[in-house]
Amino acid sequence: MTAATRSHAAPPLAPDTRIQFLPGVGPRRAPLFEKLGIGTVEDLLRHVPRTWLDARQFVPIAQLRPGALFTVRGEVKQAVALRSRGGRTDFTCSVADESGVVSAYFFGQSFLARTLRKGLQVVLSGEVDPLERRMVNPMFEVVEEEVADLLHVGRLVPVHPLTKGISARGLRQAVRRALDAVASQVIDPLPESVRVAESLAPLGEAFENIHFPIDDAALERARSRLAFDELFELQVVLELRRQFLAQEGRGLISAGPGVLAIEVQRRLPFELTADQTKAIHEIVEDLRRPLPMHRILVGDVGSGKTIVALMAALHVLEAGHQVAFMAPTEILARQHAQTLTRFVADVSVVAHAGAGKPSGNFGLAGVAGPPIVALTGSTPAAERKAIAARLAAGEPLLVVGTHALLEDRVPMPELALAIVDEQHRFGVRQRATLAKKGVIPDVLVLSATPIPRTLALARYGDLDMSELRSRPDGRGRLVTRVTGEEKFPQVIEFMAKELVQGRQAFVVVPLIEDAGRNDVKAAEAEWTRLSQHPLLAPYRVGLLHGRLKSDAKRDVMESFVRNEVQVLVATTVIEVGIDVPNATFMLVLDADRFGLSQLHQLRGRVGRGAHRSVCVLVPGRAATPIGRERLEVMVRTRDGFELAEADLRLRGEGDLWGVRQSGLPRFRIADLSRDRALLERARVVAARVVMEDRLLAHPEFQTLRNRLLERYREPLELALAG
Ligand code: ADP
Ligand code: MG
Repeated sequence: MTAATRSHAAPPLAPDTRIQFLPGVGPRRAPLFEKLGIGTVEDLLRHVPRTWLDARQFVPIAQLRPGALFTVRGEVKQAVALRSRGGRTDFTCSVADESGVVSAYFFGQSFLARTLRKGLQVVLSGEVDPLERRMVNPMFEVVEEEVADLLHVGRLVPVHPLTKGISARGLRQAVRRALDAVASQVIDPLPESVRVAESLAPLGEAFENIHFPIDDAALERARSRLAFDELFELQVVLELRRQFLAQEGRGLISAGPGVLAIEVQRRLPFELTADQTKAIHEIVEDLRRPLPMHRILVGDVGSGKTIVALMAALHVLEAGHQVAFMAPTEILARQHAQTLTRFVADVSVVAHAGAGKPSGNFGLAGVAGPPIVALTGSTPAAERKAIAARLAAGEPLLVVGTHALLEDRVPMPELALAIVDEQHRFGVRQRATLAKKGVIPDVLVLSATPIPRTLALARYGDLDMSELRSRPDGRGRLVTRVTGEEKFPQVIEFMAKELVQGRQAFVVVPLIEDAGRNDVKAAEAEWTRLSQHPLLAPYRVGLLHGRLKSDAKRDVMESFVRNEVQVLVATTVIEVGIDVPNATFMLVLDADRFGLSQLHQLRGRVGRGAHRSVCVLVPGRAATPIGRERLEVMVRTRDGFELAEADLRLRGEGDLWGVRQSGLPRFRIADLSRDRALLERARVVAARVVMEDRLLAHPEFQTLRNRLLERYREPLELALAG
């Protein structure tokens, strides 16, 4: 054979063979498969069904009834291709068994005349039309030899995700061929000993049964195996990263002795709570280790996270390093800068005075001005330049800004700690960006949204978490109510009563992303309605939404803080960090559109002062019964962790914490709301495989490892390794 003729012969199929070479696909249909993310034959094996139809029970034709999926077996008696008036060509046939006859009608499929021929044994699965007493477009298959070989009927039938141009039957057939050709060749990255010890199905068997399960047990076993693999892969990646970060020199020992922090603490107008003290301790321990910290400080809005962060920052400044404190908005950045400056105001003086004394080792050495500066989009150019110069010179400064600090060309050569406030989606990618500014800095994320433990494990391996569960004293009660739109007048009456007593109120309207800019209209409409309400005539109603210029936003916010505005109509802009203890009433409209965690965070805007507060949730008119019911969870609990778990259960992980922007894959098979146990196992196994040389040397695992390193280089900061 010459080289030329050999190149025309069909190549033997391997898992990585391009899909076009799978018999029945070809170059013309290959692009359709690629649309489904199927580039190779193995990809097709991994194209798991959305669901499976149970078409296993054969019934006698005489017992067919409308209203459910039924499967019958019989002989084709009559078969007719029909031409309808619209030019469409339909096909109909009748099928009989010993008990009776049923007709099947196929719209626009006259070509079936060639397949469903008179005299053939066939199986049909479908519903019977109640009026016409016939099966319309049933699934079908000609029985050639044994029913056991059926693909499309008479079994648990896989329903695969499809795209235009690929039929369910066509895809099933392609999967069947792929299984026969390569399923046994796919290399199992799990060492055999591990697989057996974990009683997981062999990979080939799992592929077979995820598509064409013999029974429910086989299907579940297949699903578990493939879900395990998904979880395992990510855990291996996380384990590799942990190893990488643990290498020496990746992080700094970035905490001073803590004298400065003690000085500040002594001057606080309040005592730290036990939880705050514990959190500070945990963080400082991390800072003292030469490993990069990634810790989340979780606590309800108002639980006092800022002061904890400040204490951590003071340790770092004292050690001569820089700290970036990032708030989600400019308003908050400025608010934080002010608050923090106030906390340390006296101390800087003491520190400077002390610096001259022999024992004064808590002075901020080398600081030319206030150690806390704000740097935002509206910082005047000259001031900005001055700050940049101080930073470039390595002065130990705490810089408060928005997330733009990350992208900014602000040099922070001594950056050792990045504090990220109320930004739940701060992912590993942003961390990598920070790392490019110097060594890998310690990262402390402040969040009012607890991350469910399952999600933390799945996404971060282990996430270090400190919690503020107890609240500072002096907080009033907070009551939550769910009520219908028809009660609006009473709700406003109640709100007015709060206002009469000198309190303030929030009215929150949702951000409706899919409807373009309608959120602004909705907010404006609500503002108009309330501004004109007779009961509210004595008060000023402010409007705050995302499209206002930042000056205007600040004006409105500040007026509200100063109680010049009593009612603030706002989109979720207020979700973050606003501290107005005098606000005791919150009305959330279209509340069903929010996630529970988000509502929890919104609700935290009230109940911050000594007075009792009320939060009223009003579901939208289009709310589903489930959507309404979900809101009741808000009434029952104020435990953020419980709400986060409920969110995960009710909405899946898609909307939650960090998933979207983490750069990590979503799971296709694994389902975190039910695969918790599997996840724990995958984690333990991944840690073992990576740690044990014997397992690590397993060649198949090496292949997996290299593939993972390649794929997740960027989101996992592994790029820094090279
Ligand atoms: P968070 O950021 O967690 O929402 P903050 O840090 O803004 O909460 O704190 C809310 C308010 O509680 C602030 O006014 C803060 O000064 C105050 N605070 C913090 N810790 C305590 C405490 N231990 N005792 C009393 N008040 C506290
Ligand atoms: Mg805060």
